[in-house]
Amino acid sequence: MLAPFVKTGVKIFEQTIKKIDIVQEWVQDNFHKISPLFPPYYGKSARFLPYVVHTPYFIDDTPPGAYDFTLEQNGKLKIPIPAPCQGTIRRTRFQGKNGSFTTAHGAGQIVELMCDGTNYYWLMGHLVQGSPPRTGTRIKKGQSIGIQGLTGRTSGYHVHAQIHYHSGQRITNRKITRPFVENYIKFLRKGSY
Ligand SMILES: [Zn+2]
Repeated sequence: MLAPFVKTGVKIFEQTIKKIDIVQEWVQDNFHKISPLFPPYYGKSARFLPYVVHTPYFIDDTPPGAYDFTLEQNGKLKIPIPAPCQGTIRRTRFQGKNGSFTTAHGAGQIVELMCDGTNYYWLMGHLVQGSPPRTGTRIKKGQSIGIQGLTGRTSGYHVHAQIHYHSGQRITNRKITRPFVENYIKFLRKGSY
């Protein structure tokens, strides 16, 4: 007497599996459309060992919306900065201790990384002069985008980070940027190997 019920159960189970397959397929096919909604910090990454990330002066309002954090590995500070996303080097420039306030005042060696499938890019400053890859270089997530340094107006090794829209406009709303930066720091602390 149980056989028909078992059969029905198996059928429902099979149908459910099929539906899950369809959803998975749809997500894969449409990932480029929905990916701008997600910070692209998960998935494949170049290999690197976990970083210690110090955030005593995390919030930096010069200019508004920026973040500061210090990377450390095996007690060293002059170390590669892993890319927060897969993308392309948008621009690099060295501006010493000065430079426009609206972009990145006194941020020394700057690198900008456009994240694939999104409408924003990261700007990082105080890198070792000349350490970022050239404009147009394709970058894997986790790959080095330069060396943490002391250029510009800083008294200690740290990364100054800002997130900008493609238009160049800096995103000052931390409700938008904070999850990106926190995800990035989680990614650095976890490592990829
Ligand atoms: Zn800063």
